[in-house]
Amino acid sequence: MSNATNYQLFINGRWRAGGSGATLPVINPATEMVFTSVASATTSDLDEALAAAERSHKAWCSRPAKERGEMLLVAAKILAAKVEAAARDLSAEQGKTIAEATGEYARAVETLEWNGRHAEELSAPIPMGTNRMIVPEALGVVAAFTPWNYPAVLIARKLAPALAAGCPLILKGAEETPSAAVHIIEALRQAGIPDGVVNLVFGVPVIISRHLLSSPIVKILTFTGSTAVGKQLAKLAANNLQQCILELGGHSPVVVCEDADLTKAVPAISDYKFECAGQSCNAPSRILVARSLYEEFLSRMTEAALKIKVGPPDDPATEMGPMANARRIEAMQRLTKDAVDRGAKIETGGARLERPGFYWPPTILSGVPQGAKVLHEEPFGPILTVTPFDTIEEAIEKANATEYGLAAYFFTGDGDAKRELIEGLLAGAVSVNYLKGVSADALYGGVKQSGYGYEGGEQGFRSFQNLKLVNGLGS
Ligand code: NAD
Repeated sequence: MSNATNYQLFINGRWRAGGSGATLPVINPATEMVFTSVASATTSDLDEALAAAERSHKAWCSRPAKERGEMLLVAAKILAAKVEAAARDLSAEQGKTIAEATGEYARAVETLEWNGRHAEELSAPIPMGTNRMIVPEALGVVAAFTPWNYPAVLIARKLAPALAAGCPLILKGAEETPSAAVHIIEALRQAGIPDGVVNLVFGVPVIISRHLLSSPIVKILTFTGSTAVGKQLAKLAANNLQQCILELGGHSPVVVCEDADLTKAVPAISDYKFECAGQSCNAPSRILVARSLYEEFLSRMTEAALKIKVGPPDDPATEMGPMANARRIEAMQRLTKDAVDRGAKIETGGARLERPGFYWPPTILSGVPQGAKVLHEEPFGPILTVTPFDTIEEAIEKANATEYGLAAYFFTGDGDAKRELIEGLLAGAVSVNYLKGVSADALYGGVKQSGYGYEGGEQGFRSFQNLKLVNGLGS
């Protein structure tokens, strides 16, 4: 499966090296040192994976949905039993703390379980009166591309509903964080998944996506990552009209109204923002505060950010680890410099920590002019901007003033303000008086440039089905 020096591909039921023997280095973001490697697939490896997935489709989708679900439940148990070791691997590759990595695996296990438990019910025909019904059918081979920020749970959110619905899958795991894909696929192998039903590849992303999506064998593309890459993949998918589920970037606002309880809002924002060093697509990144609370909020938020213990992810005292890669540090430097050059003030943080590793401290910027890049480009890191507002209409206008529309949050007890904000905020998900991310039982998806399609819950499951309408049953 894997060893200390190389993670492998899994094609047609077998762990193996890539056809050319090439590997890619994996770097520990806390030390900046290469500590393991991952096999890189050739196009012939991809052809083998495509052929294996295609061959397995008929038998897999004809198998009773209950059995497919049971296999996921067994895999969930196997994965749950190895969470401690898997979380250490994830933390070393990604930089998140062991506690965060353990929590992420718990959600991955829950996702396998939820889809396993609902496989039968969501695969059953849906009656429409006495004469018609909808028959859900597996759409076919899935190409899934997952990123490095939450590699375990994001794989589970694609793979579990696809398999439960009867679709074989070719997964491209993130090359920077390969262990999560390897641990999850190995759990499925041990649970008895038939050869060819799941295939795992790593390699040069652009080569893999171009090759897989140019094949008519692939019927669905599911991708989580940046908007720029999502658009490239959607263009490739257009040639074969492959269906797309695109979970792209976010730049989420939090509106803190004048009646908000800051003893609840500040810790909730701080906890959610700085999880995974801010590298979550739905992390809050722009805080809009009623002017009467602005100074108080800014001082409490700064105090909360200063208290966060940044350090090595394997130290139990650490609350925030390093960023995942050098690209994120460069982005933090660029966005901070641009904001400061335009007149913003750094309340705390704002510069890379002087130590080995990709460490960037919790950073709060105030007085950020509307033209600053940090208000428009997804920061994808531990940077928060804090801006005052005078009316709810102004808060909504500012909240919606990015091209993204993934998540939005607000704090108020006022019924009218709640209604206005729920209606006015352009986002796939709105959370009231707390910050909430993805869960196995609920859909999640974006609007605007944050993508389209759903993951999670019943809607996420149905993304992998063709809903066939059958007419004239009583004839
Ligand atoms: P990136 O766009 O280069 O890569 C993002 C992910 O997509 C990576 O896992 C990468 O391996 C994969 N990828 C890149 N090119 C691909 C291709 N042609 N085909 C298939 N997969 C491809 O960006 P990055 O520097 O790795 O990450 C930073 C940006 O990515 C952030 O600004 C953020 O917008 C976005 N991102 C979003 C999420 C999310 O949860 N929505 C997760 C990770 C990254």
